[in-house]
Amino acid sequence: MSVEALPTGPETAPPADHVDVLVIGAGISGIAAGYHLQHECPDQTYAILEARAAIGGTWDLFRYPGIRSDSDMYTLGFPFRPWDSDNSIADGASILQYVRDTAREFGIDGKIRFNHKAIRASWSSEDDLWTVDAERSDTGETVRISCRFLFMCSGYYRYDQGYTPAFPGIELFQGPVIHPQFWPEDIDYGGKRVVVIGSGATAVTLVPSMADRAAHVTMLQRSPSYVISLPGQDPIARLLRRLLPPKLAYSLVRWKNVIVTSAFYQISRRRPELVKKLLRKGAQRRLPAGYDVDMHFKPRYNPWDQRMCLVPDGDLFEAISRGQVDIATDEIETFTPHGIRLKSGQELEADLVITATGLNLQPLGGLEPIIDGQPVDVPSTMVYKGCMFSGIPNFALSFGYTNASWTLKADLICQYVCRVVNHMRAHGYTRCAPYNHDPSVTETPFVDFTPGYFLRAMDQLPKQGSKLPWRLHQNYIRDLQLIKRAQLEDGVLEFSGQKGARADASRAAVPAVA
Ligand SMILES: Cc1cc2nc3c(=O)[nH]c(=O)nc-3n(C[C@H](O)[C@H](O)[C@H](O)COP(=O)(O)OP(=O)(O)OC[C@H]3O[C@@H](n4cnc5c(N)ncnc54)[C@H](O)[C@@H]3O)c2cc1C
Repeated sequence: MSVEALPTGPETAPPADHVDVLVIGAGISGIAAGYHLQHECPDQTYAILEARAAIGGTWDLFRYPGIRSDSDMYTLGFPFRPWDSDNSIADGASILQYVRDTAREFGIDGKIRFNHKAIRASWSSEDDLWTVDAERSDTGETVRISCRFLFMCSGYYRYDQGYTPAFPGIELFQGPVIHPQFWPEDIDYGGKRVVVIGSGATAVTLVPSMADRAAHVTMLQRSPSYVISLPGQDPIARLLRRLLPPKLAYSLVRWKNVIVTSAFYQISRRRPELVKKLLRKGAQRRLPAGYDVDMHFKPRYNPWDQRMCLVPDGDLFEAISRGQVDIATDEIETFTPHGIRLKSGQELEADLVITATGLNLQPLGGLEPIIDGQPVDVPSTMVYKGCMFSGIPNFALSFGYTNASWTLKADLICQYVCRVVNHMRAHGYTRCAPYNHDPSVTETPFVDFTPGYFLRAMDQLPKQGSKLPWRLHQNYIRDLQLIKRAQLEDGVLEFSGQKGARADASRAAVPAVA
């Protein structure tokens, strides 16, 4: 289907393709979006634009040794397709295969336009239509697609760069320095002395998995993170999978894990001292006698101020106990030709340095939203139900949990978008956007979460509000009510254009970039 008169863009631009819903990104969120659109909105056309040449997003991009999930697969998996393995914590290749298989099984792969990077989306209040410009990385062309609803499933970080702080003297070091986001296929670390800089999920994954082949691995951290060991296989899940049909077993284990992880999060927030003690005991039990647990495993913040690092079957503690791994908790004074000198004066000799120092956040996949010719100032918008933005019409973002599996919330958001799209169709609406009319709602930062990559990007992120439906609770059970069941017409999400009447263009007014 093609639309002849387009509202925006250069006059020479070719006519656009048109779909009812355009999804940006073919990772976990984009594939979930495809599934729900097909099943819940069968009369709506949709397409997925994917910047890369592959399905899977995060799980296709990251290839470092040992890459794995750090939340259980019964909640990281899609609710509509059971995770069919005994491994609760899964390796990256298996997760990627699962996402690809899901796309293939439901015919979602046929809806993906690969090598299409969406760069700009222009909303016209004349036509209640988005026009999206995408750059094709394979042909160099710019293509144009219009849609009624734009659904960003573009993840939360930059794909083309990771974060590496400006380390003093890094240019002096004579060996390779590698960021895990760009792991070279041909790097041979067998028999080499490796220093991994970082203390997050990536560092605690890399360190034990490199330990067997490397001569020695040192994890160099400025400050520790909370590290918790969980079984790589869940015995209850194994038992239920043997006794029950796959879908029922999956659903029960999923619910069990939702309840257990939510309860653990709530206890952590309410009784941080108790949880600190439990985590310390857990680490101490697995480490050699006399190990300085407080130096290397006692963070300065409370549990769940940052995402907790999960290690399957205590693999990090085991590698330390075997003498294959050391942790240095210190600051870098300078790189040297053969390693790193620390502020304490200690020298770490290294043949290879890995900077597991994080991501660069990018909330809308680099897409620039424009409304009636005015660029939108996203940081001055407020997030409604964690997925729509104040004043931005027919637009949603899939953004998962920071304290539980991403997919739990991403999937709820996909269902919500389908409900909104169906509601608009049923009532002849052509536009919907949330607006805050309650002066008692104050703005607060987008997340109550303090890892460096969020803090570095807070000024690029939208705000959340102090009260529902603008407040993010990071709680699946509450979100079931807020996102899945609550009435759509709640006085905040406003619909217009009923029965084909042209909506009042002023409703689309959003904060523009000054
Ligand atoms: C190393 C690592 C491990 C993780 N482990 C876990 C875990 O165990 N549990 C958990 O819950 N979460 C984890 N996460 C978070 C993880 O990103 C999410 O679980 C989930 O994979 C995100 O899926 P997504 O589809 O929303 O985004 P992504 O996986 O980031 O996919 C986004 C897709 O959108 C595409 N895209 C982006 N911008 C554009 C654009 N402008 N135009 C077109 N396409 C675009 C990208 O190319 C990509 O394919 C991890 C993250 C990382 C980096």
